[in-house]
Amino acid sequence: MTMRRTLVAGNWKMNGSRTESAALLDGIRKGISAASRAEVAVCPPYILIPLAAEKLAGSPAVWGGQNLSVHKSGAYTGEISGPMLRDYGCTYVIVGHSERRTLYGETDAMVAEKYGAAQVAGLIPILCVGETLQEREANQTEAVVARQLDAVLDKHGIGSFKNAVIAYEPVWAIGTGKTATPQQAQEVHRFIRSRLTARDKTVAESTRILYGGSMKGSNAKELLAQPDIDGGLIGGASLQAEEFLTICRAAD
Ligand code: PEP
Repeated sequence: MTMRRTLVAGNWKMNGSRTESAALLDGIRKGISAASRAEVAVCPPYILIPLAAEKLAGSPAVWGGQNLSVHKSGAYTGEISGPMLRDYGCTYVIVGHSERRTLYGETDAMVAEKYGAAQVAGLIPILCVGETLQEREANQTEAVVARQLDAVLDKHGIGSFKNAVIAYEPVWAIGTGKTATPQQAQEVHRFIRSRLTARDKTVAESTRILYGGSMKGSNAKELLAQPDIDGGLIGGASLQAEEFLTICRAAD
């Protein structure tokens, strides 16, 4: 028996004016039903988080950050901390997104530190893992995902996954329009869960593993139908209310 509540989380990345974002948030608020079985979250740029909090307060939708500092406060110009995100009502924070890893040099060790900082602040980290095309073609998918996962497991323990979400995001599928097939995704999701099971079966069965990589209204249903896919992390398709809501409905 699994009791994993499906989660659909939008990663807006560095997109959205104040006006566009207000309209998007209004659209999401209007479109999600209180009866929805799936949980819906949006992760806007930092500066738009107060707007998300204002627009979504009292709705079933929750919000989160896309990144955080490992520090609580202090002389870290340009950074935002976990307690600051929490102060604005964030439930989630994405950590280790492939864009952070590749463009900003975040290592497995740094990602593990951020994961811990998120939990200390009372946020639920959405830990992103995934292989590049080159790694997949070299049959390194499982080794890469295992290494990324173990960096967190070894530092924080399997128990920490009671308050965490994993997102499997094959780098070659992010923003490319190339979605992993449901079978390709399920294979890696099952591998991730088996990696958790080796440490604790109960935690493994309750941990949500999201798929991310060009998920959209038209392919969400068959991806979400896979036994080990417990939701989606949505980039491009989370920027249009109707498209995002179609995915949310597919998750119901
Ligand atoms: C992402 O960046 O988390 C993502 C899944 O992006 P996209 O849906 O645009 O591929």
